[in-house]
Amino acid sequence: MKKLAAGNWKMNGSAAALAEVQALLAAHPDPACEMLLCPPATLLAQMNWAARGSVLKLGGQDCHTAASGAHTGDISADMLKEAGATYVILGHSERRADHGESDALVLAKAQAAIATGLVAVVCLGETEAQRDAGETLAVIGAQLDGSVPRDASAAQLVIAYEPVWAIGTGRTPTIAQIAEVHNFLRARLTAHIGAEAANTRLLYGGSVKPSNAAEIFAVADVDGALVGGASLKAPDFGAIVSALA
Ligand code: 13P
Repeated sequence: MKKLAAGNWKMNGSAAALAEVQALLAAHPDPACEMLLCPPATLLAQMNWAARGSVLKLGGQDCHTAASGAHTGDISADMLKEAGATYVILGHSERRADHGESDALVLAKAQAAIATGLVAVVCLGETEAQRDAGETLAVIGAQLDGSVPRDASAAQLVIAYEPVWAIGTGRTPTIAQIAEVHNFLRARLTAHIGAEAANTRLLYGGSVKPSNAAEIFAVADVDGALVGGASLKAPDFGAIVSALA
């Protein structure tokens, strides 16, 4: 399986930031892993142009369940695709928290994305209170059960484990904690989608940086990273890409 270095720019970046894409591609024209950037939707088409002819894949950060219609402010999977996306992040903890997204809604979005031909990057993760209460695997298992389509193939799906307390904090779980969750996810996913689970990429996300990437990527069942802050600067994201090679 080809590993995946995915960058989530969140609500960051302007047209000037496209220089980072040029710098990234100049330094990593043909990386060993797959390289994905998910900019704000307003930048997708421009980034698609900046990355034309390159190996860089693009993704959205959310999509609606419907293909079109009266949904002010929303964006459909078809629209993302037309702008150049081949992936879409769904169920990020910031959307679950800020927009009250439920597992059922994330599932419906993932089904819509896959039906459109996009790869659904479904995010899961426990809060610090849930980890402290010993509920991590129960929480993640329930999120996986509720938000991952049962008929997805490995080519249509990526799962990202992002502990909420590790996002943007500089704190990361121990290697043993990451290994425990990823091992659990692989087994639980196998119960849902069978043999496809062995080839489905399981990403770790939450304060991944050049300094900790190699250690995290050495963990069994970690097949890449979903990177926030460190994906905004080409040298940092490039170092993470190199660590996945
Ligand atoms: P940071 O890498 O900034 O912690 O963000 C992780 C994340 O939420 C990626 O989706």
